[in-house]
Amino acid sequence: MRKKGYEAITGMYRDEGGSALILMTIGLSVMLTMAALVVDVGIAYCHGSRLQNAADAAVFAGGRLLPAAEGDIDKQMVIEDKIREYLAKNEIAMDEISSIDFTDPINGVYYGLHLSLNTQYQTGFARVIGVDRIAVGKQAGVKVRPSLSADDVVPVSVVKDELDLLLDQGQTEHIILKYGGGDGSNGAFGAINLAGVQGGGANQYSNWIVNGYTTEITIGEKMYPIEPGNMAGPTSKAFDDRYTSCTHFPEEGGCTSRQFEPACRRVVKIPVVEYMDKHNVQIVGFAVFILEDCYVNGNNGEVQGSYVEAVIGGTADYQADADLEREYGAYCLTLSH
Ligand SMILES: [Zn+2]
Repeated sequence: MRKKGYEAITGMYRDEGGSALILMTIGLSVMLTMAALVVDVGIAYCHGSRLQNAADAAVFAGGRLLPAAEGDIDKQMVIEDKIREYLAKNEIAMDEISSIDFTDPINGVYYGLHLSLNTQYQTGFARVIGVDRIAVGKQAGVKVRPSLSADDVVPVSVVKDELDLLLDQGQTEHIILKYGGGDGSNGAFGAINLAGVQGGGANQYSNWIVNGYTTEITIGEKMYPIEPGNMAGPTSKAFDDRYTSCTHFPEEGGCTSRQFEPACRRVVKIPVVEYMDKHNVQIVGFAVFILEDCYVNGNNGEVQGSYVEAVIGGTADYQADADLEREYGAYCLTLSH
């Protein structure tokens, strides 16, 4: 009886031992699977963050060079190269780039771009449960929109109707930006007092040209045109400072309308204005010019520049997206999807 009882007890122990082993095995498997998922999904997540950061940086770097005409393959290649350069800086392999697309075309011009990255992360622990690799994909897009406001504006304005005429005639190269007195016939351009008050001397004026007007000015603001007076001397020197400070593309003689760095000081932002009456103008947009080998006639207050489209920063005009009525080539770079 005793023996039998003992056997019964040990039998019971044996049964429990087997169950515990099974439970332990299942438990370990679950734990291993979970650990595998936690570790590998975690690593995949890090890969995703790496891709996303690289994609964001790359589209911003490339987007600064928008817009690009549909037919302007050279410019599109420059933008794509810039994107690849930033991806390489962030250690993205070329085979991780799925696509680079130009987007948001209006009248034959692309105003946006989209980048898609994909990578296959080779798993470590998750191989235990038959998962060899995890696909990670990330995308980023940017779009340029007309600038509603701008800083670093120079105190030379252009009259809207006159600029419209120049653009309609396709006259965008080597335009005389006239801001002083003299005999010139170009009435499109004129000096403008950015502080919005009458008066202001030549020193203040040339300071605005050299350093740009630091306060942001916005479409709709009213300003005073400046009577062409003794502006020529100091302002000519001021434009010279801006022109000579360019350090980009040294082999080609610096920034030109064909190739420029948007942040260069040769890139000048000029308010586009409409006269409300003889003494008041209202800002209706911003135009961008690249200063050229200026000093056509410095003493008469003239500089030369070519009209370009460029990302100048400031505040984006989200309303002007559909019709680009108010845009004169001055854009803000914004994220898109
Ligand atoms: Zn430059």
